[in-house]
Amino acid sequence: MAFKDIIGHSKPITLLQRAIKNEKVVNSYLFLGSEGIGKRYVALQFAKTLNCLGEEAERGDACDRCSSCKKIDHALHPDILLIEPIGQGIRKEQVIEMQRELAYRPYEGKHRVCILTAADRMAHDIPNTLLKTLEEPPLHTVIILLANNSRLILPTILSRCQLIRFNPLPVPLVSRWLMESKGFDEAEAGLLASLSEGSPGKALEIQEEIRQIPREELLKDWVGLKSLSFERIGSWVGSLPSQRENLILILEVAKTMLRDLVMLKTLKKGPKLIHSDLVQVMEPVATRWSLSSLLRRMEILHQTTLAIKANANTSLALEAMMLSWAEG
Ligand SMILES: [Zn+2]
Repeated sequence: MAFKDIIGHSKPITLLQRAIKNEKVVNSYLFLGSEGIGKRYVALQFAKTLNCLGEEAERGDACDRCSSCKKIDHALHPDILLIEPIGQGIRKEQVIEMQRELAYRPYEGKHRVCILTAADRMAHDIPNTLLKTLEEPPLHTVIILLANNSRLILPTILSRCQLIRFNPLPVPLVSRWLMESKGFDEAEAGLLASLSEGSPGKALEIQEEIRQIPREELLKDWVGLKSLSFERIGSWVGSLPSQRENLILILEVAKTMLRDLVMLKTLKKGPKLIHSDLVQVMEPVATRWSLSSLLRRMEILHQTTLAIKANANTSLALEAMMLSWAEG
């Protein structure tokens, strides 16, 4: 795997490749973007290119064949340090150990590359010497900090790094990656991608939970919504997972179902559905519900999701949602 094989992130990759080709690689970078989006992966390809022994390196990419590239791929290269959080975050001892390692020249590579993941989760007692290291790292050393949230990084650290932003990937790209690199079929890849918020890592992380969501049952409950009693709604809400995160995922899935229903309602010629496997169950619902009531339900669902994300009482919020849905 090299830069050329990465799907998406063309802007950060172009910036890094240009820096290599123009010999303008700086000492410290901050890769900023949401969890699972591919920052660590790009950082590793950057480390490979900086150390690659092949001709491709001069053109800004790794050859993927030389001993250096292979060692980095197998996490065996002594000059590539990958520092990951222990427990809640990066600990003081890890930073001290990193600085000790950086004091030596690279063992065999052209550059020592230190990738510090979770730079937004560093302990409060991180030594001040880190600032000095970021500003003036030892010769032939590149430090790459990875973070999801810039507000949790000390301004003094931020100001010492070149910021490279990673934006969420478009849904079709995540879907393509899931199919080509991970072997998902088209339907599942499409569903996971649409719930991934543009993060391939998140798509993989939620796959098991998504598989366990009884999507067909959800739809059938909606079809019978008008005849649902208070008790039935209560027991339906009771049957949902109590963990807020899982519940939010179910609501996100419900949102994609409503989106499919709107598509079925408005596009007569075979719209591309996220839940294409459930088209038989969806068609009667799309027929029964008017477009305005579908859109109204979408809005209620959206507001409920926001309320639950903001720590509202989940049972009350869901019951209120189902009751207003039942109004038609
Ligand atoms: Zn190489």
